[in-house]
Amino acid sequence: MSAISTYFKSIFHSLFTVLVGMKITGLHLFKRSVTIQYPNVKKPIPERARNRLYVNIDDCIGCLQCAAACPVDCITIETIKATPDVDLGMTSKNTKKRLYIAQFDIDCAKCCYCGLCTYPCPTECIVMTEVYEYSEYERKNLVYSFATMTPEDSIAARRRLQQYEAEQAAKKVHIQPKPTPPSGTDAAPATT
Ligand code: SF4
Ligand code: SF4
Repeated sequence: MSAISTYFKSIFHSLFTVLVGMKITGLHLFKRSVTIQYPNVKKPIPERARNRLYVNIDDCIGCLQCAAACPVDCITIETIKATPDVDLGMTSKNTKKRLYIAQFDIDCAKCCYCGLCTYPCPTECIVMTEVYEYSEYERKNLVYSFATMTPEDSIAARRRLQQYEAEQAAKKVHIQPKPTPPSGTDAAPATT
């Protein structure tokens, strides 16, 4: 093969390669655009997408089932038992609330979005939201707190519970029956 023939063959090959590439580009020129102007335009999220969690704390009964189900321990809940004189009300599912929720934190930096916490919740108050854009510069800002009790309220609730338990313990001691003497020692007391 002569040098001239090889030269023209190379030119043809280069042009052919460009044309193959341009054919794909050309076809897409006449198709509907598949790109969107994110973040100004957003695609709809699938119905069961897993995103940021939300807790409707008014419906939480503090059963800890969500925390127990979490495989990475990113849910921290602290509860305080309410004394019988306090009525914490009912949830929207008609479940009586017996515990104060002093702390309910979800560390979304640890969360793996498995959704396991949402299934066992008896009041369906922990749910996945549609929020998926919540990056932060500080990891600590990814800890979401849902409890609404103030530290002062928590201290007061704990004090009330301690007082109630102490009263109950005192009552138990008071009504405890006197120990019966061991058998054989119940003879009449000696007279002087
Ligand atoms: S989605 Fe999974 S990892 Fe995240 S809090 Fe719920 S159980 Fe834990
Ligand atoms: S499972 Fe539901 S009700 Fe129980 S502690 Fe978690 S969020 Fe609250």
